[in-house]
Amino acid sequence: MNPFRFEKPVIQPLVHPAVQPENKEVDVLRLDQLDPLLSGNKWFKLTLYLQEALDLNKKRVVTFGGAWSNHLLATAAACQRYGLASAALVRGERLAKCSQTLQDVESMGMQLYFLSRQDYGQKKIPEQLLMPTDYTINEGGTGAYGVQGASTILDHVDKHKYTHIICAAGTGTTLTGLINAAAPGCTVLGIPVLHDRQAIEGSLKNFICNSAVKWQLLVGYEWGGYAKHPDALLSFMNEFYKQTSIPTDIVYTAKLFNACIRLLENDFIGPGSRVLIIHSGGLQGNRSLATDVLCFS
Ligand SMILES: *Cc1c(COP(=O)(O)O)cnc(C)c1O
Repeated sequence: MNPFRFEKPVIQPLVHPAVQPENKEVDVLRLDQLDPLLSGNKWFKLTLYLQEALDLNKKRVVTFGGAWSNHLLATAAACQRYGLASAALVRGERLAKCSQTLQDVESMGMQLYFLSRQDYGQKKIPEQLLMPTDYTINEGGTGAYGVQGASTILDHVDKHKYTHIICAAGTGTTLTGLINAAAPGCTVLGIPVLHDRQAIEGSLKNFICNSAVKWQLLVGYEWGGYAKHPDALLSFMNEFYKQTSIPTDIVYTAKLFNACIRLLENDFIGPGSRVLIIHSGGLQGNRSLATDVLCFS
């Protein structure tokens, strides 16, 4: 049973001053366009967990996230379509007015439990969410099934065409899936959006099972850290949209595309390269901004 069948994702050539087509070929895999609620990489990371929850006859999925979490939105939507109940442990206190993301997930039936930052950090699950019919999914879908699910992203492209694949890295689960699925000789690059590169590397090395590809986390593109979005980043997003018609999100893909442009400009990604950039979605998170900040929505 799969209630979610998407069209083949669009692969769009990147037309931008940093790309001279006779010199470098750059494609964007538009996972952001797959589905308004289950957009980007999140569906891929969730699918095997949800399948297991159904196989084990579980009734409710329990997971974690922040107020603007793409993971919570995707989980709530997927559970609703699968006929599973869902609950979320949310970092921080319930505000008088919840974020639009939390309002959305509640309207899809997800129960919200707010945890202090300390309890959240320790991933303390309240007892009433540890019933035998509850199924817990790690924050961000991290884990073996998340990696395996993410590796199927490359089923939708001719992966032998590319010398480089680049994605944004939060937990690095998606990056690991791409590393495992990439064709021999390919270089897979991850752009971390949070400062803790060692944590990403440490947790993912256990899951990497493809020694035929090179991979690297490229730091220095965090713009101050997770979810930080200085004005210069917002300006980049507007300019990039005007140049390419590609919308980006403040947490992940704006930092990814900005990094890609710089790596193309300085020839870190050199002449003759054929590059695939994974647009992992997340656009809904831009709703945390005032409405006049971005020239697209
Ligand atoms: C969650 C997310 C990521 C990061 O994925 P990881 O597998 O945690 O590294 C990247 N881009 C977007 C838009 C996301 O929502």
